[in-house]
This record gives sequence, C-alpha cells and structure tokens, in this order.
Amino acid sequence: YDMAMQVELDARNALEHDLHYALAQDQFELYYQMQVNNATQVIGAEALIRWVHPSHGVVSPLAFIPLAEATGLILPIGQWVLESACVQLHLWAKSARTRHLQLAINVSARQFYQANFVEQVSKTIAKFMIAPERLKFELTESLVLDDIEDTVSKMHALKKIGVRFAMDDFGTGQSSLAYLTQLPLDQLKIDQSFVRNLGVKPTDAIIVQTIIGMANNLGMEVIAEGVETEFQHLFLKQHECDLYQGYLFSKPVTIDTFEACIQSAIG
Ligand code: C2E
Ligand code: CA
Ligand code: CA
Ligand code: CA
Repeated sequence: YDMAMQVELDARNALEHDLHYALAQDQFELYYQMQVNNATQVIGAEALIRWVHPSHGVVSPLAFIPLAEATGLILPIGQWVLESACVQLHLWAKSARTRHLQLAINVSARQFYQANFVEQVSKTIAKFMIAPERLKFELTESLVLDDIEDTVSKMHALKKIGVRFAMDDFGTGQSSLAYLTQLPLDQLKIDQSFVRNLGVKPTDAIIVQTIIGMANNLGMEVIAEGVETEFQHLFLKQHECDLYQGYLFSKPVTIDTFEACIQSAIG
C-alpha cells in the first residue's frame, strides 16, 4: 500500500469529478490571443480554453487537458470549444469591423480520431452558418503521425468543407519531415521554444530561418508564437515571417478585452 499513490489517485478522481461538473455548469471559457500580420493588423486569434473555477479562479489548460484526454472528457470539452468558436465567428460575421477575423482552435488526438469527427465539424459549421475558411484547426506533429493515413483522409475531407489547418509547435517533433508534403496544411506555427532563443542560441536562429524558408517553398503561411520582445519580432520580420502571436502584442484575454483591442486598433 503506497500512501503517496493513493493521495495522487484521490486527487485525480476529485479533478475528474470537478471537470464533469465544470462542463455541466458551463465553467469553461475561451480566451483569445491576437495574431497580427506584417502591417501589425489583427487578422484573428487563437482560442485557448480556461476553466473559470468558482473558488480557484482561472485555471490553465495545462492543469486539466491531460486528464481530460486520459478520461475521454476531452470529447465533450472539444465539442464545446468547436461550438463556442463557431458562435463567435457567427457573431463576428455580423459586423464589417470583425467579419475578416479568423479563429484557430486546438484539437486533441482523441477528438480528431473519432470516427465521426468530419461529420461533427460539418454539422457544427452548418448549424452556426459560418464561413468555414475563417476556422482553423491546430494539429500537432504527434497527432498527425499517430495514424498518418487516417489523418490524410480526414484532413482532405475537412479541406473540402473549406476549413484550414495549422501545424502547431512545429520543429519540436523527432520525426522526418516527409509527412509534410502529404498533408494539406495552410500554416506552419514555429514553436515558441525556438522564438524564445532568438538572439540567445545561434542554432535556434538557423532553425527559425529554415522553417520560414520551408513554409515559403511549400506555399504555406508561417506564424511565430511566443513573440515577447521587439528583437524577436524584428528578426522574424527580417526573415520574412508572415504572422506573429505572443505577449509582445497581447496575452490571451477575454472576448470583451479582445474586442476592445480591435476597436481601439481601428480607432
Ligand atoms: P499551445 O497550443 O501551444 O498554445 C500556446 C500557449 O503559449 C498558450 O498557453 C499561450 O497562452 C502561451 N503563450 C502565448 N504567447 C506567449 C508568449 O509570448 N510567451 C509565453 N511564455 N507563452 C505564450 P495556454 O493558454 O496555457 O495553453 C497551453 C496549451 O493547452 C496549449 O498550447 C494547447 O496545447 C492546450 N490547449 C489550450 N486550449 C486548448 C483547447 O481548447 N483544446 C485543447 N485540446 N488543448 C488546448
Ligand atoms: Ca495551439
Ligand atoms: Ca503552440
Ligand atoms: Ca505547446
């Protein structure tokens, strides 16, 4: 009998119970982190989930997504994220000021590999009558390589509907890059670990330049995440990056704060 193990198991069970309750009580919220282009215009946002806990306050996804994935709760949570993103795109479409905005959401392996994922996406898009090209799915390398054949066929089916795809955390995987040409990707997202080391670790500057060059050669858009300093921004700009996301521009914020930023940026 291991006391420490029992304590951990109890904590896990309590968290799982709380997550069920959170879903039923509508305690999740999407935060929005702006993405900007080379003219420093806001082209859209990445939606990042938060658990707004009645006593613990705002809880990071790092604290509950792994357990949600392990228990399968990520399925209803993922559907909630998709619906919430579509509701937001529907609202943005009503105003000339926000109609152009794109929204990126993160998709878990378990959610993506459900047999009816394509159907769920297509139904949700139809339900909220959104323009599918405004919605972008961020996939990780480990997700796509889990079952490359299923990934290729699902991505093509979803491309037919009109949604877009980004490869998240790009450059952190251990695998060969041969899969890249098989996938209908629209965007490569340079992982923040490389961006952070610009000006610090010369080899990471080379990796960043290489990723940008590769994206350009493959006809994909390239975005840098975790941009925190003017130096990083300038370096990326000089090396022909397309888009930027990071604390230099804004942290992930509530919808009200995000919309206030857009408003003030336009004047
Ligand atoms: P991610 O998809 O790689 O998201 C980027 C993370 O970097 C976010 O953390 C964001 O707040 C943070 N970040 C953005 N700019 C900066 C910066 O300039 N500096 C630093 N230090 N950090 C920055 P967050 O919101 O805590 O999300 C963590 C991870 O949780 C995400 O990593 C993603 O893997 C997962 N996640 C978030 N929302 C969802 C969701 O709706 N569904 C799923 N399946 N996973 C999600
Ligand atoms: Ca992401
Ligand atoms: Ca990322
Ligand atoms: Ca990440």
